[in-house]
Amino acid sequence: MMSRISGNQTGKETNSFRKEWKFSEILAERGVRERWEKVRKYFFLRESTYDMSNRCNIRCEGCYYYEGDKQFAAENKNPDSWRRLMQAEKARGITYVVLAGAEPSLAPDLCRICFKEFPLGSIATNGLKAIPADINFKIHISVWGNDDTSARVRSAKNMLIRQIENYRGDPRAVFVYTFTSNNIDQVHEVAAILAEHGCKLTFNVFSAPVGYRGDLRHTPETLGETRKAMMDLLTAYPGNVLFSPYNAVAHTHRKGLHDLYGCSYPRRNASTDIGLGRSFRQYRTDLNWDRAAACCVPDTDCDDCRHYAAGSAVVTARMFRHAGDPQTFKSWLDYVDTYLSVWVMDYHKGANLSDRMAAPPENEIF
Ligand code: SF4
Ligand code: SF4
Repeated sequence: MMSRISGNQTGKETNSFRKEWKFSEILAERGVRERWEKVRKYFFLRESTYDMSNRCNIRCEGCYYYEGDKQFAAENKNPDSWRRLMQAEKARGITYVVLAGAEPSLAPDLCRICFKEFPLGSIATNGLKAIPADINFKIHISVWGNDDTSARVRSAKNMLIRQIENYRGDPRAVFVYTFTSNNIDQVHEVAAILAEHGCKLTFNVFSAPVGYRGDLRHTPETLGETRKAMMDLLTAYPGNVLFSPYNAVAHTHRKGLHDLYGCSYPRRNASTDIGLGRSFRQYRTDLNWDRAAACCVPDTDCDDCRHYAAGSAVVTARMFRHAGDPQTFKSWLDYVDTYLSVWVMDYHKGANLSDRMAAPPENEIF
């Protein structure tokens, strides 16, 4: 998800950087330097991810955890093993941990060990079992539609209200609405309920696992509808929705994130130069990892990857590519400001610098 923000991880950045503006001129615009100074304090973030449990209390259609062989890794539940792993991760320069799974709330003691070693991190959960308050990581609660859809696709009843009961008023919590091809209209109903309860909301886009044959996969048409819904909700609930117009462009483009920006995770990036290709690891529940499979959403089809967690690393890493003109750079700053507010405790999103959509560098807007 999160990565060092850098312009030259692949060696391509310098060549593709067609600068007509001086960077100092771009920063001279009112508000831009301030936002730049705000986000650059977090350039030190270097993430890795950890599967905390191979169990889940529900079973969702299209879950990428239960694809591939990571689901069969044994669970190492030994607290000392986890403590040693966290200490070793710190020693090799990791500064941010993403606890995922299957379902991390089923392993709260292990989550607590990670938190004690790392002040910064996040937990991806379905929100049905509350994570103890002393584990002060960001908590991302997955929402896949209204409760009828959750009952059908996730086999869980009254899901949204149970999630809200667990996390209402909790500064750790961000609800993550995943747009599939068939829940787009439902987001309005879900956002209204979340806003009524004062909850924060951001957006994800369903990214099909390798070999997926179900009907949740997006088409160009549903991507366009998703983009419109995102933009409408940004306007309707500015105090609740953590997103920006450029987030909408990047995640609903006809091209996936890898095509648009070049994915920097080891699975798509053979480089072991400094950067995500070298530092990122995705540990399974047995505490092993496999460089060839390592990314924040393993077993996702790269051609269909529009995942919010992937974008947090893939888009933010391309700073120089966005520094060719003020509009594109402001859009990139909004993207980074958004992702920091979603992933970092006590980081608060500012108003978006740009209220209109910008095309990704060297691409059309859709
Ligand atoms: S809640 Fe998450 S881990 Fe569990 S089945 Fe659903 S998508 Fe997979
Ligand atoms: S699935 Fe996404 S994040 Fe993972 S390697 Fe492919 S493009 Fe990168």
